[in-house]
Amino acid sequence: MKFDANKRSLFRVKKEITIDNLLPWVIDADVFLDKCSQCGDCINACPEKIIINGDGGFPTINFELGECDFCGLCAESCKEPIFSAVTEVPWQKKALINETCLANQNIYCRSCAESCESQALTFQIGINAVPKIDLQLCTGCGACVAPCPVTAIDVKELK
Ligand code: SF4
Ligand code: SF4
Ligand code: SF4
Repeated sequence: MKFDANKRSLFRVKKEITIDNLLPWVIDADVFLDKCSQCGDCINACPEKIIINGDGGFPTINFELGECDFCGLCAESCKEPIFSAVTEVPWQKKALINETCLANQNIYCRSCAESCESQALTFQIGINAVPKIDLQLCTGCGACVAPCPVTAIDVKELK
């Protein structure tokens, strides 16, 4: 059987472009992969500089670089039918804290909570305080990701 390098490459990119790293307001991953021309306009439009040239040349969000302030400039800069209207909810991403959080080792740290403007991330009172996320308040902005010294926070799309 003839080997098709392009197909294999697209398959690999499809696995790596997940709904967790898609830009806000992107309709879905398949539409994005099909229609994105990789022009880079959204990368240049983002004032927070959190959109990077990701796998296969597709733009992806990287919260290690900062937070999304939901300005909508990425979606508005795109000439392709990839994004929904910026008046709609941008995504269903929420912050999730994994077991590497320093609170699980009784080490004091409040870096994430200090970065959360929505007051979604709070610490229970007490000596063994662990962070708690109110999913109703969390916007998935990603501001809590970079300040965490042990990369204990992931922002994932709620399925
Ligand atoms: S909404 Fe604004 S801040 Fe968020 S990724 Fe798009 S351009 Fe960047
Ligand atoms: S502006 Fe649109 S077409 Fe251009 S890279 Fe961004 S998502 Fe793709
Ligand atoms: S993603 Fe944004 S809103 Fe959600 S907990 Fe982190 S800083 Fe707060």
